Amino acid sequence: MNIVLTGYRGTGKSAVARLLAKKLGWQSLSLDAMIVQQEGGTITEIVDARGWNYFRDAESTCIAGLAGHDRKIVDTGGGAILRPQNVQALRQNGLVFWLKACPETIVARIKNSAARPALTQGKTFIEEIDEVLRERTPLYHAAADFEIDTDGKALEKIADDILHYFTCIAEPAPPGLTPPERSRYLRQMLISGWGLQGQERLRSATVFIAGAGGLGCPAALYLAAAGVGTIRLCDFGLVEASNLNRQILYTEADIGKEKALRAAEALKRVNPHVTVEPLFEKIDDASIERLAGSADLMLDCLDNFETRHVLNRFAVRKSMPLVHAGIEGLAGQLSFIHPPHTPCLFCMFAGSPPAGRIFPVAGVTPGIIGTAQAAAALKWLTGIGSTLQGELLVWDVAIMEFQKIPIAKNKNCPVCGHTS
Ligand SMILES: [Zn+2]
Repeated sequence: MNIVLTGYRGTGKSAVARLLAKKLGWQSLSLDAMIVQQEGGTITEIVDARGWNYFRDAESTCIAGLAGHDRKIVDTGGGAILRPQNVQALRQNGLVFWLKACPETIVARIKNSAARPALTQGKTFIEEIDEVLRERTPLYHAAADFEIDTDGKALEKIADDILHYFTCIAEPAPPGLTPPERSRYLRQMLISGWGLQGQERLRSATVFIAGAGGLGCPAALYLAAAGVGTIRLCDFGLVEASNLNRQILYTEADIGKEKALRAAEALKRVNPHVTVEPLFEKIDDASIERLAGSADLMLDCLDNFETRHVLNRFAVRKSMPLVHAGIEGLAGQLSFIHPPHTPCLFCMFAGSPPAGRIFPVAGVTPGIIGTAQAAAALKWLTGIGSTLQGELLVWDVAIMEFQKIPIAKNKNCPVCGHTS
C-alpha cells in the first residue's frame, strides 16, 4: 500500500512527502522529478517544446509504472488526476490524500516559483489559480480517499494527520480487522482515542441486551453498526402492532413473531461482520447467569423494575457494568452502574412499580435514550470519555432539556451495601 498525495501546486505535497518518507522510512517518489529525469529537461522546457498533451502522456506512463510498488510516498503533479486511468492506477495500490488550500494560500506559497509553466495564457496568477481550482476541485474530490486542509497548518501537522488516517485503515495490527471491516469502521476509528485498538476492543466484546423493545432496538442497531463483536439480545415477547411506533427493527410482517429472532435477522442485515445471538427467554435470577454470564457489559432496555432488579443483583454480584435506562411518554433516564464503584439501581430506585402497565410513549423517546445507552456502552468498551457513574441523566423531550442528577450510594442498600 502506497500513500499518494494529490492537490494543486503550493499545497505542500513535496515537503509533506519528504516528511512522511522520513517518518515511515519509506521512499518518496516525485512524479514530476521522474518525468524530468526521463525526458532530460525541465517541465517548462518539455511543455514549451512538446505541449501539455505530451507531458500528460509522459505522466500517465509514469503512473502506470507504479503498479507493483509498495510502501512508497507518491507525490503527484497537480494535474495527475485529470485522466481517469491515472486515478484508477493510483488508487489500485494506494490511499489518495488530497492536500487542499485556498487560492490566497497557494499564491503566497508559489508566487516566486518558476518551476511550472502557466496553464492558461493572459491571466493573472490568482485568476488562473481560481479558474483551475474550480475546474479541478470535483476531480480532486472524486479521486481522494481523504481530504486534508493545509491552510495555516505546519507541514509537520499535515504529515501527522495523514499518518493518523493511514494507520487507521492500512497498517497491520494484531489480530487485524479485515479490509472490509476497516473501510466500514473508518470514520469512527478516526475519532481521537478510538483507532484500531478501540475497534479491536469492540470486536472482542460481548454485550448483553435485556429487552428488544423501544430501547433495545436502537441500542442494538448502533452497537451492531459500530462493530460490537457479539450481541446477546434477549426478549421473551412477540411483536405487536402497538410496538411499531418505536421498535424500529420490526415491520408489520413481523407481527406475532418472536422479537429476539426478528431483531437478530434485521441486525445481521445491518452488519454481517458481527455475531448476534437471539435469546427468546425469560430473565430471572435462575437464568441470568446462563444468559448474561459471558458478557462484558449489560444494557437494561427493559420495561419493568422487577426484571431490572434481577440485572442489578447480577451486576453487583459480578461487578459487571450495567447501563440502566427507562422511558415513559416524552421523558427518559439513563445511568451507568458499575458496582462497587457506583450506586446500584436499588440505591436509586428501591421499589418495583407493577409490571404490565400500558404507559404512553413516543417513539423518539426510546430512540434518543436507547441511542444514548449504545453511546455509553461504546465509550466504556473503547475507553473514550467519561461515563455517567453516580449520575442519573434525565432527558425531557417536552422542553428539550438534559439534566444530570448526582446519585449517592446508599451504604445500607440491601443489594450493594456490603460491597462498599
Ligand atoms: Zn445499592
